[in-house]
Amino acid sequence: MNWISNYVRPKINSLFSRREIPENLWTKCPECGTMLFHRELSENLNVCSSCDHHMAISPRERFKALFDGGIFTEVKVPEPLADPLGFRDQKRYPDRMKAAQKASAEKEAMLVAEGEIGRTRIVAAGQDFSFMAGSMGMYVGNAIIAAAEAAVKRKCPLVLFSAAGGARMQEGILSLMQMPRTTVAVQMLKEAGLPYIVVLTHPTTGGVTASYAMLGDVQIAEPNALICFAGPRVIEQTIREKLPEGFQRAEYLLDHGMLDRVTHRKAIRDELIAMIRMLTGQPPAVKGDLPPPNADAAGKAASDAKGSDAATPTDASKPASGAAKA
Ligand SMILES: [Zn+2]
Repeated sequence: MNWISNYVRPKINSLFSRREIPENLWTKCPECGTMLFHRELSENLNVCSSCDHHMAISPRERFKALFDGGIFTEVKVPEPLADPLGFRDQKRYPDRMKAAQKASAEKEAMLVAEGEIGRTRIVAAGQDFSFMAGSMGMYVGNAIIAAAEAAVKRKCPLVLFSAAGGARMQEGILSLMQMPRTTVAVQMLKEAGLPYIVVLTHPTTGGVTASYAMLGDVQIAEPNALICFAGPRVIEQTIREKLPEGFQRAEYLLDHGMLDRVTHRKAIRDELIAMIRMLTGQPPAVKGDLPPPNADAAGKAASDAKGSDAATPTDASKPASGAAKA
């Protein structure tokens, strides 16, 4: 009857709700096969509640759970030349880009933001594995340089979350040039005496591992993340030998001195706060004095304090049981 609410509104909603997934969707855990309710899974930061498997999480979702009150400002990244080689495989590169942009509702494979965690200002950069396998092209190079420049300007630490299948082949040699470019960006932070912390997530491979993802002052990884230059299958075929159990996984690399920590996704915020305070010469945070991680939690905490709401407190702010076995 009402054409405005029946026709016009759905049309407008469909224009704006780009990445929204219906609430009744279920996701199957690729590790244990448990069917997980979409809303519960996203509240659990995309970690399987049954086997603790860490699934991919978009940088935007991660930042919402990372920054105080879920508040952050995006840092502008200079736009590189589009499709410099006129590359085409089964599809044209610009068509691939358009499809990835539509599916992820993001412009490119890296999101840079600034905000506060535990009341300390930081710049954060997050790589999006769902966007063309998080591949490193000129945009990702520009994003890391923009992130480093923002951190130097604000005199604050840079935290980078890596996830990549490697360099973006559609940009050929130009994608490989991002390795030295990003290395120089990291050097800029070191010369300014600012902490650079890398959180390696599943999977971080190829040219990304061979440049900025391995240059952190502190190297943290999420549990069971694959971190390598060439993957285990390639190595196995080359040396014709069976590789040891857990080869190139986060825990294996920690045992062999390649990482500093392996930390559960839900404990990463608290660990970063402690680490950043330590590295920037601040006293340790007093328990209960820190702002909650996101807006929902903030609302809940406020209403809990008033005693008007008996809802279970959000568990996003406390580390899970499987946290930091290291
Ligand atoms: Zn599972």
